[in-house]
Amino acid sequence: MTGSRQGRGAGRGQDIGIDLGTANTLVYVRGKGIVLNEPSVIAVDRRTGEVLSVGAEAKRTLGRTPEDVVASRPLQDGVIADFEGTRHLLRHLMAKATGATGRWFRAKPRVVVCVPSGITGVERRAVIEAVSSAGARSVHLIKEPMAAAIGAGLPVQEPTGSMVVDIGGGTTEVAVVSMGGMVAAGSLRVAGDRLDEVIAKQVKKDHGLLIGERTAEEIKLAIGAAESEAAGAVEMEVRGRDAVLGLPRTAVVTAAQVLAAVEEPVGEIVAEVKRTLDRCPPELAGDVMGQGIVLTGGGALLRGLDRRIARETGLPVRVAESPLDCVVVGSGKCVEEIEELRRTFSVSA
Ligand code: ADP
Ligand code: MG
Repeated sequence: MTGSRQGRGAGRGQDIGIDLGTANTLVYVRGKGIVLNEPSVIAVDRRTGEVLSVGAEAKRTLGRTPEDVVASRPLQDGVIADFEGTRHLLRHLMAKATGATGRWFRAKPRVVVCVPSGITGVERRAVIEAVSSAGARSVHLIKEPMAAAIGAGLPVQEPTGSMVVDIGGGTTEVAVVSMGGMVAAGSLRVAGDRLDEVIAKQVKKDHGLLIGERTAEEIKLAIGAAESEAAGAVEMEVRGRDAVLGLPRTAVVTAAQVLAAVEEPVGEIVAEVKRTLDRCPPELAGDVMGQGIVLTGGGALLRGLDRRIARETGLPVRVAESPLDCVVVGSGKCVEEIEELRRTFSVSA
């Protein structure tokens, strides 16, 4: 081989941070920043087991694949539901992010990966195993709300309490962080996916129309809101299949119908925020009163959710800048300081 390898870690793998989300997986490469952002979806040939596509390309086939192809989301509710699928997703994205060619890395990367705070030991081991078998040299875990808080630029190392609420696809993570640790935390398996589910149910009930999860998500993005004053457009034409006749047809779904549908899951999210505030030591609760609450994750973009939480808690609430990137930026900051990673749980692959 010609040429020379230069720079830090010459001859060693790159260090990467991964936000392995239920909806989206993002990869941060040390010294470069975010290099990849893809839906956590894979498409597999049912007969051969071969992975046909990963990420955005696979998401386009969700719900409309021919019989011999299955498109699936290997992560559900924030944790691994399909181990092999997750391993494929990780291997593909890790190789793409680090520029590895062929099936294997020239040098294995060290990986910092985020996990929900409410994860069980078994679920945690599955993440470590999936990341190492996808080619990592070592795996460091960091709790998602901590990564979100770091990524949102909150003063996590200071002796003051900061509250972050990360609303992803599968889970909502609520935490008060102070001096590098989480002093109160709540984790709820209700987030963006649940909103899509209840919207699909409502459309079936109101219009007798069956729609898939992608259409339900499109409705949420177009006319979904957590408060009536916050709705975007007032209605939307939706295509689906008649629940009785089985034929394709359209229906006009209104913002009011969507608002009614999401009321219950939104209420659960707000209740989890209040519960976590209740569990917070008084001094730190005072800090949160002063500084307010920061929302991260894609769910933070639901119209009016910030105002709804502000109204129900009486605290100032703001949506982080680039809320979908906060967790991976937070793990990226840990990657930049991987040698000093002491607080976080780590294992060698
Ligand atoms: P995860 O960390 O679980 O992968 P993300 O933080 O990437 O989740 O957020 C994905 C979720 O955010 C999806 O449920 C998606 O529908 C939702 N989302 C993205 N943009 C918006 C928006 N503008 N309004 C409401 N929900 C949104
Ligand atoms: Mg997330």
